[in-house]
Amino acid sequence: MTARTYVQATTAVAALGTIWCVAYLGAGFGLEAFAYVFVPIGGALATASVRHLARTAFWRAVRLAVALITIGYAWLAVDMLTHAAEARTRSMPAPAAACVAVGFLIAIWALARVPVVAPGGAERWRVVLDRTIAFLGCAAVLWYVGLAPMLSAREPWSPQAMLLVGLGLLAAVGAATKVSYIAGGPVDRVAMRLVAAAGGVPAGVVSVLAVQFGYIASVPAQAIVMPLAPVLVTLGVAAQIRADQGLRREPARRGVLLPYLAMISVDVPLIAVAVGEPLRWPVRVVLIAAVVVTVLVMVRQYLAYRENARLLRNARVQEQRLQYEISHDGLTGLGNRALFRDRLTAALATTGPVSVLLIDLDDFKAVNDLLGHGVGDQLLVAVGQLVQAEMGDGDLPVRFGGDEFAVLLTGAGAEPESLAERLLTALSDPVSEHRLLVQASIGMATASPGDTVDSVLRDADVALYTAKQRGKARFVRYVDGMGEPVLASMRLGGELRRALDGDEFRVVYQPIVRLDCNLVSGVEALVRWHHPDRGVISPAEFIPAAERTGLIVPLGRLVLRETCRQAAAWLAEFGPDGLREAAVNVSARQLHDPDFVSDVTEALAESGLPCERLVLEVTESAVLRGRQVSRALYELDRMGIRLALDDFGTGESSLSLLRAFPAAIVKLDKSFVDGIEIDDRKHARQAVARAVIQLAGALGLDTVAEGIESPEQVAALLELGYTLGQGFHLGEPMTADGVSVLLAQQRRAARKQSVYPRA
Ligand code: C2E
Ligand code: MG
Ligand code: MG
Repeated sequence: MTARTYVQATTAVAALGTIWCVAYLGAGFGLEAFAYVFVPIGGALATASVRHLARTAFWRAVRLAVALITIGYAWLAVDMLTHAAEARTRSMPAPAAACVAVGFLIAIWALARVPVVAPGGAERWRVVLDRTIAFLGCAAVLWYVGLAPMLSAREPWSPQAMLLVGLGLLAAVGAATKVSYIAGGPVDRVAMRLVAAAGGVPAGVVSVLAVQFGYIASVPAQAIVMPLAPVLVTLGVAAQIRADQGLRREPARRGVLLPYLAMISVDVPLIAVAVGEPLRWPVRVVLIAAVVVTVLVMVRQYLAYRENARLLRNARVQEQRLQYEISHDGLTGLGNRALFRDRLTAALATTGPVSVLLIDLDDFKAVNDLLGHGVGDQLLVAVGQLVQAEMGDGDLPVRFGGDEFAVLLTGAGAEPESLAERLLTALSDPVSEHRLLVQASIGMATASPGDTVDSVLRDADVALYTAKQRGKARFVRYVDGMGEPVLASMRLGGELRRALDGDEFRVVYQPIVRLDCNLVSGVEALVRWHHPDRGVISPAEFIPAAERTGLIVPLGRLVLRETCRQAAAWLAEFGPDGLREAAVNVSARQLHDPDFVSDVTEALAESGLPCERLVLEVTESAVLRGRQVSRALYELDRMGIRLALDDFGTGESSLSLLRAFPAAIVKLDKSFVDGIEIDDRKHARQAVARAVIQLAGALGLDTVAEGIESPEQVAALLELGYTLGQGFHLGEPMTADGVSVLLAQQRRAARKQSVYPRA
């Protein structure tokens, strides 16, 4: 049988009792002794129902108590049925009364033992006061309507009856005051109140009935009122089971109104005395005044209580708002990092799958720089809405700060890949009212057992970093070992600073050579890192780290100054015909630096190198970085410094760039020089090289072919019209001394030629 069936069964017993009682009192149906049958039947059912909860000490005690009381009443019923004729005059057999009394004592003891979550400080005293008020109030009423008349009754009660009623009342009052203040704990509040009521309510009603109506009341009491006790017990069991299953959650109220109820209960007998008893009028006035005063105080207290409740509500609303503010992002209204960490912690404590997506907008800084922060903010809001629109119900999208968003996926069917794909697709349309086209990189990680919040976030971060490294606008899922190169690169970033301070960088120079006569026309400065442990490190390895950390700015300044100084020295040594120019590579981050132009001016002024002898090499992607960069480039051009487009042809907009940008030189990327000597019939391999030289010719730009590794390539390039080249075949990067040697040889050769001019 389930808890619910027990409730139905005990209710049915109580209903039968009522029907029988009405039939008996109305039509004299059956024997009076039948009245005693219903309580033990209901009691047996109630005892059985508690079986479900035998795990808790409280409920074990309740079961024992109910069983004992049931046995006592069963005994009584048997005794009454066997002596049906004299039922009216018989009192409860002593052993039966003992069973019931012990049962009650056990129930009281069980209730008393249930721990009350003790409030601290002033709150504790308030609760003590409230409980005392409640106890005295209830006790006063019970005294007036129950015990006092019983003690002063003309035909005195049997000691057994007095004991039972007294115990019942005591249990009721004590339990009522105690259970009113229970909040939390192993025993459900509602269940405990029902059990306490099972002892108190029938006992109270029976004693009032008995006192007011004498022995006549015994029949309805036994058949109607007392069978309610088992019903209440089974209801209590059902309530406890519901609470255990987490089906009911109650706000913790601590019987705030109980003291008022207690005061009313004291006032009721007071009014009865003041109105009903024969009293001297001054006493009557004092009594009435006392009642009025307590009522007024109660009203006043109640108003204060209402005001307090209002203040409390306000405080709660404020707290909720504060809670919202500290857990949400003000701009987009999404959750923030703190909320995300909380939810992630909770999700990791469950067994379900947990995935994290980190979404970072690509080149968001450019939007801020070019269009202003207002537009940048609007873009973030729009992206936030877009991310939210793609989410499932259980997913949590948040903004981590800056242009970084995160999503927590916990549902069983959650698929991080498909979400990432949806997000990237959604971002392929222009967003925000400015119709901006942004792209994002996404890193994702799925938690494995033993993962912590930090480890999952770190994995997702590594994946995001890898997505950026692989060219942005894509998603990457974390796999084991992915962190190693990222960590190495981070370590590299950290070491760069030390290297700069420790003077570990050197500049080497690669000759730029005239293809027709092999004369060195210029040099390109290339930086090298002489690492104390790892030897010489190539710039391809550390320039990205230097750009990320911003250290490229001081590093670039160092190369620039060194190159200018060296070029000026060569100019002084070999004259204006020795070396036409020196080229320095400049990265995007340097062009963004507001001090870049003045850095260049200073390097030139310090070294005394004329402007037109310096070339700055920039890549296409660096040039396309917005107004600030464009302004710097035009200013440099006006100063007479020549700008070269490096790695030309590898970008997306090479050709249109030539018109928009003040370039003087185009450097054909090595990839178009590779294989240029192979004579395929359609000359497909030469197509770009040919197009570039034609375009450069039309626009009046110089050209340099990069990465020449063989004499055949030189021949092919010459045939296409290229005059300048650079590559291992023509000269590897070398120290400044190496270049000096070359220049000295060249000078000797030139002198010889002028001494012995060709015929
Ligand atoms: P880049 O500006 O295109 O420089 C040419 C690169 O190609 C150099 O590599 C050079 O050594 C290499 N190279 C030259 N001829 C040949 C050849 O025949 N075959 C092959 N396979 N390679 C050849 P390096 O020195 O490793 O520099 C790599 C890149 O690092 C440079 O590409 C440049 O973008 C960057 N870089 C180098 N120095 C600096 C610097 O001081 N500042 C900045 N911002 N970037 C620099
Ligand atoms: Mg270069
Ligand atoms: Mg290049």
